[in-house]
Amino acid sequence: MTDVAHMKWWGWGVEGVGFHHDNKPGFAPFVLDAVGLDLRTAAAVDIPDFDSLTVAEPVVSEQVLEAVRSVVGGEHVHTDRMSRVVHTYGKSLRDLVRIRRDLIQRSPDLVVYPADEEQVAAIVGLAVEHDLVVIPFGGGSNIAGSLEPRPAETRTVLSLDLGRLDRVLDIDEASGLARVQAGVQGPSLEEQLNARGWTMGHFPDSFTHSTLGGWVATRSSGMQSDKYGDIADITRGLRMVRPAGTVVIRPVPSASTGPSLREMIVGSEGRLGVITEVTVQVHRVADERVIHAYFFPTFAVGLAAMEEIAASDAAPSVTRISDSWETGFSMATSKERSGVSKFMAETALPTIMRRKGWNLDDICLSFIGFEGGKSHARAQKSAVDAIVKKHGGLGVGTGPGVLYDQKKFDTPYLRDFLLDRGAAGDVSETAAPWSRLVEVHAAARKAAHDAYASLGTTGWIMSHMSHSYHSGACLYFTFAFVFGDNPLEEYDVVKQAIQQSFVDNGGTLSHHHGVGVEHSPWMEQDVSPEGVALLRGLFTAADPGENLNPGKVTPEA
Ligand SMILES: Cc1cc2nc3c(=O)[nH]c(=O)nc-3n(C[C@H](O)[C@H](O)[C@H](O)COP(=O)(O)OP(=O)(O)OC[C@H]3O[C@@H](n4cnc5c(N)ncnc54)[C@H](O)[C@@H]3O)c2cc1C
Repeated sequence: MTDVAHMKWWGWGVEGVGFHHDNKPGFAPFVLDAVGLDLRTAAAVDIPDFDSLTVAEPVVSEQVLEAVRSVVGGEHVHTDRMSRVVHTYGKSLRDLVRIRRDLIQRSPDLVVYPADEEQVAAIVGLAVEHDLVVIPFGGGSNIAGSLEPRPAETRTVLSLDLGRLDRVLDIDEASGLARVQAGVQGPSLEEQLNARGWTMGHFPDSFTHSTLGGWVATRSSGMQSDKYGDIADITRGLRMVRPAGTVVIRPVPSASTGPSLREMIVGSEGRLGVITEVTVQVHRVADERVIHAYFFPTFAVGLAAMEEIAASDAAPSVTRISDSWETGFSMATSKERSGVSKFMAETALPTIMRRKGWNLDDICLSFIGFEGGKSHARAQKSAVDAIVKKHGGLGVGTGPGVLYDQKKFDTPYLRDFLLDRGAAGDVSETAAPWSRLVEVHAAARKAAHDAYASLGTTGWIMSHMSHSYHSGACLYFTFAFVFGDNPLEEYDVVKQAIQQSFVDNGGTLSHHHGVGVEHSPWMEQDVSPEGVALLRGLFTAADPGENLNPGKVTPEA
C-alpha cells in the first residue's frame, strides 16, 4: 500500500482530533442563543458505519488496470472502497453531508499514486489512449466541489493522487526561488524550507491537509498574504503535464510574452493538466513575528482603519478585523480565565471601552501581524499604532493574538462538531473594493437572515475582513443554523442567497476557494457570459476528449 496519509473519510483532519468546549464556558450559551441548539440535550447524529456505505463496484477493465500498474507498480494502484471514498469529495459542507448520509453519487474507480513526473505523463497518456477521466488529487481539502466526478460519468474515473511528489528539490538562494514537487502538504513543505532558513509564508486555514499543487490549482490565499502574496503571486514558475507534452513556465521575475500562461494555469482545477512542480518565491524566516490585537468601536470604523493601513507604508503581514458578531463568537470560545487575565478581560477592558463611549455590543476585534527584522517590525507597528489611534481604536497587546495563532488550525474541526449535532456551520468568502465593503457586508447578512426566515429557522452569520490589497479586501463569512428535514436543500437556500448577494453588490463570487461545481453557476455573473465562453473555448481546445477533470470551473452547458 502507498504510504500517503489522508483525512478521515467523514470529516476534517485526523481521527481522534476534534473540537470540544469543556474549557470554554461561554460556548454552549452562545450556540443556544445564536441558532437555538441546546448542546446539553442535542441528539447525536451518528456517523454511518463505513462498511454500510453504498459504493458502486469500480468500472475499470483488466487491460486498463494492467497498463496503469505497469507504470506505477501494483502497490500504488488502489481499488479498495476506503481509497475510493476518500478520493470522492473534498470537504465542503455538501460533501460532508452527502458522505455522512450515504449519498455517494460517483466515486473514482481507481486511485493511482505516481512517483514522479514521468509516471504522471505516462498515466495522462493512458487516460487519452483509453478514454479515462483523470482527476488530480492534492489534499482533498477543497470546498467548492472541485474533485467529484460527474454523477453520470460512465467512463473509468482515475484519481491521480500526487502525495508521493512531496520534496523541495532545490533552492536558488540568490533569487529566493524554491523548486518544489506539487504533492507536498503544508507542514512538510515548511519543515523542509525552514530547515534551510526559508519560508514560503503561505498559511491557509487548511494548511495542515492541503498541498502546493492544490493551492495553485484553486488560487489559494493564506492568512499572511498581505506580506507574502496570494499563491498567484508566490507561484513564479511551474511544470504541468498534458497529454501531448509538458508546459514549462520558467521562473523569470516578469515577462511580457503575451497573455500570461502562468496565470491561466493558476486556478485551472485540473482541467488543463497535472501540475507536477512549482517554483515558488521564498523568504528568509523572519527574526520577529508577532500578532497584536486591537479593538474598534464599530466594524465601519475598523474597516476605515484597515483601508488606511493598506494605503500606508506600514506593510503588516496580517490585517484582520472581525465584525461585532464574530467578536462575540471569539469571546464565547475563549478558554476560562482566572486572576489578572480575568480581571483585565471582564472588568478593566469593558470599563475603558464604556468610558470611551463605546457600545459593547458593537465592538470589533482586530489582529494585525508584524513580521521581519526586529527594527522593521517595530517601525511597522508604530505606523499602525498611529493609524489605529487616529481612528479611535484601542491596542490590547499580544495576548489574544498568541491565542488566535495557536488555535487557527483547530477551527475547521468545529464544522464536524455541529454536524454531529444536526447543525450546519459553513463559510462563504468574497473580495470587493474598499468603497463597497460595508455594503457587501450588510447585504450578505441580510441575504442570510432572509434565507433563514424563508426556512422558518434561526440562523447565525458573522464575518471578518482579511487579505488587504491596494483597492480592497476579502470578506469571509461563517454561517450556521440547525437543519430541518432536508439538509442539502436548506443549505443551498442559505449558501445561494449569500453568494448571490456578493455578485449583486460588487464582490467576486470567491476570493480564494475556487469554483469547482458549487460556484460555477455564478461564473457568468462574475466574469461575464463572453468571459465564460472564452474559458469554455480554452478547455475544449485543451481537452477535446474531456479527459481532464471535466465539469469544473465553467457551468455545464
Ligand atoms: C476548513 C477549511 C479551511 C480552508 N481554508 C482555506 C484558506 O484559508 N485559504 C484557501 O485558499 N483555501 C482554504 N480552504 C480550501 C482548500 O483548502 C483550498 O482550496 C486548497 O487550495 C485545496 O488544496 P488541496 O491540495 O486540498 O486540493 P484538492 O482539494 O485535492 O484539489 C482541489 C482542486 O485542485 C486540483 N488539483 C489538486 N492538485 C493538483 C495538481 N497537482 N495539478 C492539477 N490540479 C490539481 C484538483 O483536481 C481539484 O480540482 C479551506 C478548506 C477547508 C475545508
